[in-house]
Amino acid sequence: MTLQTQEQYQFIESILFQNLGYQAEILDFQFFYGGNFNLAVKVKVTEGDYFIKWNQGDHDGMFESEAKSLQLLHSQGILSIPKIINYGKILDKEYLMMEFLEAGFQQANYWEDFGQKLALLHQQTNTKFGLDFNNYIGALPQSNEWMENGVAFFIEKRLKIQVGRALYERRITPALGDKFQALFEKIPSLIPNHAPSLLHGDLWSGNVMTDAQGLVALVDPACYYGLREAELAFTTMFGGFEDAFYRSYAEVMPIENGFAERIPLYNLYPLMVHVNLFGGGYLHAVEKILKRF
Ligand code: ADP
Repeated sequence: MTLQTQEQYQFIESILFQNLGYQAEILDFQFFYGGNFNLAVKVKVTEGDYFIKWNQGDHDGMFESEAKSLQLLHSQGILSIPKIINYGKILDKEYLMMEFLEAGFQQANYWEDFGQKLALLHQQTNTKFGLDFNNYIGALPQSNEWMENGVAFFIEKRLKIQVGRALYERRITPALGDKFQALFEKIPSLIPNHAPSLLHGDLWSGNVMTDAQGLVALVDPACYYGLREAELAFTTMFGGFEDAFYRSYAEVMPIENGFAERIPLYNLYPLMVHVNLFGGGYLHAVEKILKRF
C-alpha cells in the first residue's frame, strides 16, 4: 500500500468507526473514478457495502446539500435513490456515506419505466421556484432562492449567475456578456412558463444507474423546483437516453410543441457551468446558440 492509499484507508476506517462503531472491519475496498471532483470508494464491511465519497474541504456544505437533495428525492417514493448513512467532516475532509447500489440486470422496460418515473417526479410541485436550501452543480454553488416566476428564475438564478461568474473570471468577453444580456430580454417570449417541477437538477447519463431490480436509480442530484423542460433538455446534452424514455415521459407529462427548438436555450445553463468549470472548450457551443437566437 502506498502512503497515500494508507492515509485514505485510515480515513475510511474513521468514517466507518464513526458511523458503524468500532467493530466495523473493512473486508474490501475499491476506488471509483467516475466523478469529476471527488474521490470515492466502495467499501465492504460485515454490515454491508457502502459508497463513500469525499473532497478536500474547499466546498463547504457540498455533501450536506447533496445528502438533503438525495433525501428529498428519496422521500417522494418514486425513484430508486441510495439511502444516506451520514455526512460529516474528519480533519479537513468532508465526506458523504451512503448505501452502495448493486446493479441488477437491466429490465427490458428500463427506459419506459424511467421516463414515467421522471414525469411523476416532475408532477411534484410547489408554490414557487427554488428550494429551501442552496446546493452545488458540479463544484459550483447553485442558488435556489425562491422566486414566483419560473422563466425569471431560470434567467436570474441560473443563467445570470454563471454569465456573471464567467465575466468576472474573464472566461467570456464583455461583448459576449452583452449578447447574453440581449438574450435575457428575449427569453420570456421564447420559453413557456410551466408550474414548478421537482427536478433532479444534474440529469446526465453519468448520474443514472441501475438498481438491484434492474430499474433506474439516480445519484448526485442538484435538486430544485424548476422548469421541467430544462431537465429534459439537460438529458440531451451528452446523450445516452433512449427514445422510449422521452415517449413514456410524454405519455404522463405532455411535452409542449417546439421543445426541440428550445433545447439549446435551456442548455446554456449546463454549458456555462462547463465553461466556468473546465474553460474554453465549451465556449464555441455557447457562441453558436447566442448567434442563433
Ligand atoms: P461526483 O460527485 O464526484 O461526480 P458521483 O456521485 O457522480 O460523484 O459518483 C461517481 C460515480 O460513482 C457515479 O457515476 C456512479 O457510477 C457511482 N456511484 C455513485 N453513487 C453510487 C452508489 N451509491 N452506489 C454505487 N455506485 C455509485
